[in-house]
Amino acid sequence: MMSVKPRADLDALPSYVAGRSVPGAIKLSSNEAPGGPLPSVAKAIAEAAAEVNRYPDTAVTALTHRLAAKLGLPPERVAVGCGSVSLCQQLVQALCAAGDEVLFAWRSFEAYPVVTHVALATQVRVPLDAAYTHDLDAMLAAITPRTKLIFVCNPNNPTGTAVRREELVRFLDAVPPEILVVLDEAYREYVTDPDIPDGVRFVHERENVATLRTFSKAYGLAGLRVGYLAAPEAVADAVRKVYVPFSVNALAQTAALACLDAEDELLARCASTASERERVRTELLEMGYRVPESQANFVWLPLGDRSLEFAEHTLADKVVVRAFAGDGVRVTVSTPEENDLFLRTARTFPHRDA
Ligand SMILES: *Cc1c(COP(=O)(O)O)cnc(C)c1O
Repeated sequence: MMSVKPRADLDALPSYVAGRSVPGAIKLSSNEAPGGPLPSVAKAIAEAAAEVNRYPDTAVTALTHRLAAKLGLPPERVAVGCGSVSLCQQLVQALCAAGDEVLFAWRSFEAYPVVTHVALATQVRVPLDAAYTHDLDAMLAAITPRTKLIFVCNPNNPTGTAVRREELVRFLDAVPPEILVVLDEAYREYVTDPDIPDGVRFVHERENVATLRTFSKAYGLAGLRVGYLAAPEAVADAVRKVYVPFSVNALAQTAALACLDAEDELLARCASTASERERVRTELLEMGYRVPESQANFVWLPLGDRSLEFAEHTLADKVVVRAFAGDGVRVTVSTPEENDLFLRTARTFPHRDA
């Protein structure tokens, strides 16, 4: 009997693992904003819901223009996508033929291997350095004639570490101009160190740099799926060509605009999260954990072989964190109350300084 055979190479591909949700437990596993939408945003979503019999604007016109004005770029250079994950996939599809190489640090965002593999491109992973930060010199050394795209996740998910202006400029100066560098800045709004550059500036200044941003984290719209890319015009055009029509839905478009109207309030929340991040990190250091400096809304505990054990320990206390087996644990910074619950369970993990 003949049967349907999906691509054999997909068997080897790990599925994207999302942060777990456990009923009755607090969820610190997906880097989400802790509060629900602002009243103004909830109202805009409810109003838009009355018209869901209509297709969304597939060109995402109003939001694209609004973002372009905010970024100081022409709208042609902005592409909106169904989450920035979708834009990562579109970038690989738009730039890579089979066998072309996509370069990124590892460990970094889990979507990069998946979108690269699905597009039949080749992953080149460059280990983070001893400080859990991008090793930009090693990344430069890993460039080959087949390299088409480099992802630099800044700050890096899941380690929270960030590359600074001077080293990033040196890197960008050295990358050949026909290779696109994508600065994935999903956590940009949580950055407090003035030496961590805003990638949009490089998009203005250079012909081979793009930046990815999302409404999923600081803007609190993870459930609606909307992100955006600022890029050279030819790249943005190509990314729009591989867009799945209508995939940025109408509620997402409306909600994102409402979030931009309420930006000051949302950014003030990020400032509180950033100060909680410093408190959480300080307390963990005092308990004897190693915790790299984070510029995002999460902290990284490089617990190695004890990562899964740590996650089970916190889960027993109804706190869900994100463990990467053999490597470390990522913990989202949330409200002071939820952070206290996490710190309490972290304090009772045995032999944490072993
Ligand atoms: C969360 C995250 C995103 C955002 O993904 P969306 O698809 O916009 O929800 C993008 N990049 C990184 C590194 C992330 O951690």
